Amino acid sequence: MTEKSFLEKRKADIRYNLDVINEKIGEAAVKSGRTRDEIRLMAVTKTVDPIFINFALDYGVDLIGENRVQEMLRKKPELHLDGVEKHLIGHLQTNKAGQIVGAVDMIQSVDSVKIAREIAKQSAKKGVVTDVLLEINVGEEESKSGFSVSEFYEHVYEISQIPEIRVKGLMTVPPICENNTTLCKFFENIYDIYVDIGTKKIDNIDMNVLSMGMSGDYEQAILCGSNLVRIGSSIFGPRIY
Ligand SMILES: *Cc1c(COP(=O)(O)O)cnc(C)c1O
Repeated sequence: MTEKSFLEKRKADIRYNLDVINEKIGEAAVKSGRTRDEIRLMAVTKTVDPIFINFALDYGVDLIGENRVQEMLRKKPELHLDGVEKHLIGHLQTNKAGQIVGAVDMIQSVDSVKIAREIAKQSAKKGVVTDVLLEINVGEEESKSGFSVSEFYEHVYEISQIPEIRVKGLMTVPPICENNTTLCKFFENIYDIYVDIGTKKIDNIDMNVLSMGMSGDYEQAILCGSNLVRIGSSIFGPRIY
């Protein structure tokens, strides 16, 4: 295959994948009593070359997520980002907070009070307020970052006192589950917290964004209340590290 036909094929694949995903999101939205436009689709672009990311952006994707600060900053100048939101979705180290604050529209992966304070400190320096989601480690897994469910409430009140960040909602990555019943228990656990915190009307804490669902489980996540799904491999194909 020539270089040109290879690129054309990748472009066609990405467009086809987005059509299928958009349709499935729409169906799941309706099943959960909502409409397609109430659910946001994020294209997760880790390890993906900017050429292919631009195929998705040119086809209407308006939200992208990267896991790593360096990778995000390296690719950013090459992307067609007009009208596109960028979110950080991977664990953020305190020493990288200064580089990412102001460079993305939201940090979805706030997983400790310490990092929340550091983001606030860097935001104050730059004269900005940073939108964040709080990440919950709903399966209490060692391998994953995030607040544990049991400690979450005390931390929410602590974080609500920090003026330079604005909490917009919650993010989670559930454990791998053998069946949808188990999976839904995790998603519903987070949904219940999302609703509960929302009704408490805590200063500085809004519950508008519920980020859950990836390639393997986004339809289920929407059925359980998600309004933002983060999809990588189902759009761009398997990741090559
Ligand atoms: C990689 C990643 C995704 C996307 O995963 P896929 O299974 O490829 O859709 C979503 N969320 C987070 C936090 C990720 O790291």
